[in-house]
Amino acid sequence: MAPELHPGLLLALSAPSGTGKTTLARRLVSEVEGGEFSVSITTRERRGAERDGVDYHFVDERTFLKKIERGDLLEWAEVHGHFYGTPRGPAERALASGGVIVFDIDVQGGRSIQRLYPEAVLVFVLPPSLRELERRLRSRGTDGAGTIRRRMLTARAEIEQGLAAYDYVVVNDEVDLALVQLQAILVAERCRRGRVRLEGLPLARQRRRKAPPRRRKGRGPGTGRPRRGRRRP
Ligand code: ADP
Ligand code: 5GP
Repeated sequence: MAPELHPGLLLALSAPSGTGKTTLARRLVSEVEGGEFSVSITTRERRGAERDGVDYHFVDERTFLKKIERGDLLEWAEVHGHFYGTPRGPAERALASGGVIVFDIDVQGGRSIQRLYPEAVLVFVLPPSLRELERRLRSRGTDGAGTIRRRMLTARAEIEQGLAAYDYVVVNDEVDLALVQLQAILVAERCRRGRVRLEGLPLARQRRRKAPPRRRKGRGPGTGRPRRGRRRP
């Protein structure tokens, strides 16, 4: 028998900063039934038009450490000098209810989630090139030159780690095409053995019906007497 999997799906999206994983994650959760974005907790400063509680829960370091102590986080990591963590509640609720929860997370975070839930799906998103990655970081207009330089320096290592550890790879050249590929991954994962609900499907061997009572001789089929038909010439 196949092992029973949770009804819900955990989908971790990782990529070097600037690749477009937040863009993809947001579109995906709005287009997929039961889709939900996992809003992480972070100690970094708010960027551009980011909203507290929507893009991140912005907290100070003391609050973050308290959450770790209380066991409120599924995983946490220090990325680019700031703390980031995944709250436990929404992921557990999505797993139980059959939803799809999408994490915008770094590679170490994705791997931690897969250690906790081996059925979690890890997708690494690649930029079409490093040059385009840098162009996107600049065009986002939210980071200074120093931050962009730091992010470009770590991009190669992140790509290496992601390609070594992740289940799927999606190149984000055209957003629409990348989204089709992400949707296809979700469809395939929904069909994974152990996740398809079999109860209610009439698949058990049917009991043989009782044979109908035999007709009296000479009437109809099965009586041994051929019906009258057209004779062959
Ligand atoms: P990440 O979450 O990976 O750091 P973002 O989603 O913030 O990246 O995207 C970085 C920038 O690149 C944004 O300005 C976004 O609009 C843009 N972008 C995302 N995907 C594409 C794409 N396929 N083609 C061109 N620009 C993109
Ligand atoms: P940014 O500051 O660009 O929003 O995110 C920086 C990096 O932190 C990205 O790679 C992002 O995916 C990652 N990140 C965001 N939230 C979490 C989280 O909850 N846990 C971990 N491990 N990484 C996160």
